[in-house]
Amino acid sequence: MGAAPVVTRFAPSPTGFLHIGGARTALFNLLFARHHGGKFLLRIEDTDRARSTQAAVDAILDGMRWLGLDWDGEPVMQFERATRHAEVARSLLASGHAYKCFATAAELETMRAEQRAAKLPLRYDGRWRDRTDHPEGTPFVIRFRAPKDGSVTIADEVQGNVTVANAELDDMVLLRSDDTPTYMLAVVVDDHDMGVTHVIRGDDHLNNAFRQLALIRALEWAEPVYAHIPLIHGSDGAKLSKRHGALGVDAYRDELGMLPEAVDNYLLKLGWGHGDDEFIDREQAIEWFDLDGIGRGPARFDLKKLESVNGHYIRLADDARLVGLIAPRIARALDRPVTEADTALLHRGMAELKLRAKDLEELATSSLFYLRERPLPMDAGAQKLLDDPSALAVLMAVRTALDSVTWTTVEIETAVRHVAEAHGLKLGKVAQPLRAAVTGSATSPGLFEVLELLGRDESLGRIDDVVTNGPRQ
Ligand code: GLU
Repeated sequence: MGAAPVVTRFAPSPTGFLHIGGARTALFNLLFARHHGGKFLLRIEDTDRARSTQAAVDAILDGMRWLGLDWDGEPVMQFERATRHAEVARSLLASGHAYKCFATAAELETMRAEQRAAKLPLRYDGRWRDRTDHPEGTPFVIRFRAPKDGSVTIADEVQGNVTVANAELDDMVLLRSDDTPTYMLAVVVDDHDMGVTHVIRGDDHLNNAFRQLALIRALEWAEPVYAHIPLIHGSDGAKLSKRHGALGVDAYRDELGMLPEAVDNYLLKLGWGHGDDEFIDREQAIEWFDLDGIGRGPARFDLKKLESVNGHYIRLADDARLVGLIAPRIARALDRPVTEADTALLHRGMAELKLRAKDLEELATSSLFYLRERPLPMDAGAQKLLDDPSALAVLMAVRTALDSVTWTTVEIETAVRHVAEAHGLKLGKVAQPLRAAVTGSATSPGLFEVLELLGRDESLGRIDDVVTNGPRQ
């Protein structure tokens, strides 16, 4: 018989967004499962009822869909499984691996205050572990009867062998007095019932793994393979937090204008490596992904790097798709809907426009000149070019020359070159004021192509605006 099929899972708590670190965890779980022809499951850990709104759950699903982190089957909702969790707690009670604890909150607070005063670690002292004088009708919690002696070693696929003495682990609560499970119990039961074979998650959960493993052993369930991945740190080395900027993947999409495949590729490389390979598509990633390639040190998030990866994927992306993606940004900037004619024009210009942009916002902004109404606003660079004393005379000459050309890139270029020659000027001296007049900027895609795409009337009109009225301030 072969090994059990691989089953991984991503188990986010709904916090209002899909955390960028969570997205990387999900990606690793997905790639590992796909690499082994197994399953990648999703479990929403929604037991914190105050935070787990439908909107918060949807934000996770939305982020995962955007990144193509396609899970198998229906998401498992942890809260719905509370009855099953309670049942397992009671089975542990029956088998002697758990016990009832009647200590009140006030009593436990006093216990902790004494431990604090004595500079002892704050741990439940096991006061109900061996008592049999159980009061009637008094609320109780169910605690795990954790092994007292020896130690637990986790053979972690990333961290190596990590050992904790059992004396350091106290008898944790499994079921609260209102019959709700604790996180530790729910995770263990759900992973088991979902058939999870590999637990791949952030190393902030390594400490929990010791307790979870002890519970799994008491239940005599199959032990999963653990792989605790180092968390993502900011470029300053501190753990990634709000102050480092965007934390939710939605911000990478909406605010930073990233493509999902760029975020995926960047996250993959953040903490996992395959030689010097920089750009790795999903198919290749599935083929190559393994737990050995995950580094032990914390990965540093580098926005500049992500931007350069994004620029690469923008250049690779299909033109029509890019037009669709920037359309809402353009509509916002122009404060009007994007028409079919606009779309057609952007589509024709896209092959050139996309060569220069590192994100969709930049791509949208650099496309605006095609669609703006005359007279065009001039940016500082264009203004400077048009302030040159010779600029207007040059533009007038160009205007005259262009009047009679057949409107193709080649003919336009020939005419502009003639003007330069006739005036004894370098091509740039003519092309730059012309660029300023028709694009409102000192940089743009290839000028002659821009003129061709804008069309004769629009191009000449834009030149006229500058020649007759001077550049608009
Ligand atoms: N719900 C936990 C979290 O969001 C993850 C639990 C786990 O992966 O075991 O951090």
